[in-house]
Amino acid sequence: MKTFVHRGQITKVVFGSGTRSRIPEEVDALGRGRVLVLCTPGQVDQASEIRELLGAAAVGTFTEAAPHTPVEVTEKAVAYAESVGADCVLAIGGGSTIGLGKAIAVRTGLPQLALPTTYAGSEMTPILGETEGHKKTTRRLPEVLVKTVVYDVDLTLTFPAAISVVSGINAMAHAVEALYAQDRDPVAFLMAGEALDSLTRSLPVVAWRPDDAEARADALYGAWLAGTCLGTVGMALHHKVCHVLGGTFGLSHAETHTVVLPHVVAYNRSAAPQAMARIAWALAWDDAASGLFDFAGRLGAPRALRDLGMPESGIEQAADLIVRDGYWNPRPVERDAVRALLTRAWAGEAP
Ligand code: NAD
Repeated sequence: MKTFVHRGQITKVVFGSGTRSRIPEEVDALGRGRVLVLCTPGQVDQASEIRELLGAAAVGTFTEAAPHTPVEVTEKAVAYAESVGADCVLAIGGGSTIGLGKAIAVRTGLPQLALPTTYAGSEMTPILGETEGHKKTTRRLPEVLVKTVVYDVDLTLTFPAAISVVSGINAMAHAVEALYAQDRDPVAFLMAGEALDSLTRSLPVVAWRPDDAEARADALYGAWLAGTCLGTVGMALHHKVCHVLGGTFGLSHAETHTVVLPHVVAYNRSAAPQAMARIAWALAWDDAASGLFDFAGRLGAPRALRDLGMPESGIEQAADLIVRDGYWNPRPVERDAVRALLTRAWAGEAP
């Protein structure tokens, strides 16, 4: 028998279709009544609908959430929250908007609700990533955990198919690394496997029929489980590589995860056989890494870092940064092998 520790989540999760109508009662359940709604400039319409649902309990909307949670945006939002006397925040959107909610929470202590509209999974994690100047820092802080997450499948129907695919593969990356995490436990392993099953099943349908409500529900369910994995166990080389590439070259988050994932899985192939078998099972493929590469290709997702705007000259710098901080991975992180991984991912070669 293997000894393990499992950390359960305290977040309340409401899941279904039309569940956004429950937002007023979920605000009440938190004992709050002055809500600041957060969104990106692109999701103002969805935020307006939530404001209408809340009526007088909505005291303001802040519409400037931006990728990578810039500190100057957070400071503006905190000042706005104080000026309208908000007693909680409600983020409607993806990881950018939910990140802003967490950044406000850590500065003000305000409780958060989230209505996720992508598959990034930030709503289920105690992780706060913030950018100041060009430097992104990431911290794990229990106080940034969202109190109530309302998953409403209807809100994801407008999420464009191509971004849905890469966002879904971003979620798969959380599940993949949970399968071989240093602190993995049987419950996280089950959730990760279930997340991969539902995402590999649903994303091909979402790609061709983005308005298919059943496939959208399956994808959101997988994203919830994958986000829970991300919040529960530690990640490894894949998340490190994506963090370095995103921070150093400004590459877009979900696309970077999509390109890198098959290559890191190939890197870890012999070091994590149980995880590899579970990934391959979910993909109905004999090899986990080539199955992931083929999956991205069939869904029309990007497979080369050069197509995301990374310069070839950046490979050496990225390899240096990736090996610089010691951190756990099932296979030791060696510079030459990491450089070879990056070279293949940059060119879009098979893993
Ligand atoms: P995002 O939040 O930036 O959203 C991408 C774009 O899609 C935005 O323009 C948004 O307005 C639009 N959009 C979102 N949902 C939509 C919908 N249903 N219909 C139409 N348009 C919609 O992207 P993301 O991939 O969700 O999040 C990426 C960010 O989240 C990164 O900064 C990443 O670091 C962070 N993240 C953090 C964690 C964590 O645990 N802290 C986890 C995952 C991602």
